[in-house]
Amino acid sequence: MRMLFILVLSLLFGLQAAEAKPKRAKHRAKPVAAAPYSPAAMEIFGAQKLPSPLAARSFGGYARGCIAGAKPLPIDGPSWQAMRLSRNRNWGHPVLVAYLERLAEDAKAKDNWPGLLVGDMAQPMGGPMLTGHASHQIGLDADVWLTPMPANTLSPQEREDKAATSMLAEDGVSVDPRIWSEGQAKLIKRAASYPEVARIFVHPAIKKALCVWNGDKKEPWLSKVRPWWGHHYHFHVRLACPAGSQGCINQPPAGTDDGCGKEVDSWLKKLKKPPVVATPPAPTTPAKPAKPKKPMTVAQLPAECAALVGLDKKPAAAAAAGIVPVDAVPVPERNPSVAKKSAEKSERKGG
Ligand SMILES: [Zn+2]
Repeated sequence: MRMLFILVLSLLFGLQAAEAKPKRAKHRAKPVAAAPYSPAAMEIFGAQKLPSPLAARSFGGYARGCIAGAKPLPIDGPSWQAMRLSRNRNWGHPVLVAYLERLAEDAKAKDNWPGLLVGDMAQPMGGPMLTGHASHQIGLDADVWLTPMPANTLSPQEREDKAATSMLAEDGVSVDPRIWSEGQAKLIKRAASYPEVARIFVHPAIKKALCVWNGDKKEPWLSKVRPWWGHHYHFHVRLACPAGSQGCINQPPAGTDDGCGKEVDSWLKKLKKPPVVATPPAPTTPAKPAKPKKPMTVAQLPAECAALVGLDKKPAAAAAAGIVPVDAVPVPERNPSVAKKSAEKSERKGG
């Protein structure tokens, strides 16, 4: 009897030990970088209220980087107003600020556009954001509303509450001629025409409208205007890395195809596909729950970004966070499936 008791006990302990083993092994296998201090970059950069007082420089790629020495776009100008001030995202590289001011002025003087309503640019030190965009991280991206600026100066509250107007018709694949006008077409053409612009992102229906409006003229500005999810309330301007900005990672040049053929048509085809609502067949194996995507850590940004937020001055923390420079992450552009969700998310937030 006693022997049996001992046997049962040892079996139990044996089992426990066997169960505990993989857990310990798993724990040991975890890379040091993940613990004990590996802050989510969106929290660190989202909390920055002011830019770093350094010379202006963009580090990394549009969707993985930060900016030193950002400047604010003044919230009011002769021909622009900054929106959603509570977000504190009216910051950018001085070349972006200068670009927006010039676009606002030129569009008003030469195209009779009443003025720009400027949406999100970047956070004071750039970096990932707690809500919205995947890009806008290095102070070279800006959203400009397709709604003309009203004649009056909007109050801070109005800048929070005012809704942007979608340019889309009810079918979702064409622009609404009662809302979309030549004014918007001219504004986007002008916005794309400056040499510092690398890309402009618009909804596929807007791209199509621009192709039709421009006729058979093969013009380089149209090659820079690319279809993307969302972007029917605003267009997104992306500037190339300013000359001499080491560590800033450009996208490949826009090329010479104006995108008015196969490219835009394939986007529209995707949009026209009816959503699948049929009951899915019973799965033969239980569906594996999708792993939640881990937010980008400060360690995954260029090393200069960790220095900007002072993480390099805490050697232990920096070492634990495994701060090392990382290579550029290419920003997907022609594959619509990749950024659909984030674009839609930012669209809903009026980003
Ligand atoms: Zn944007």
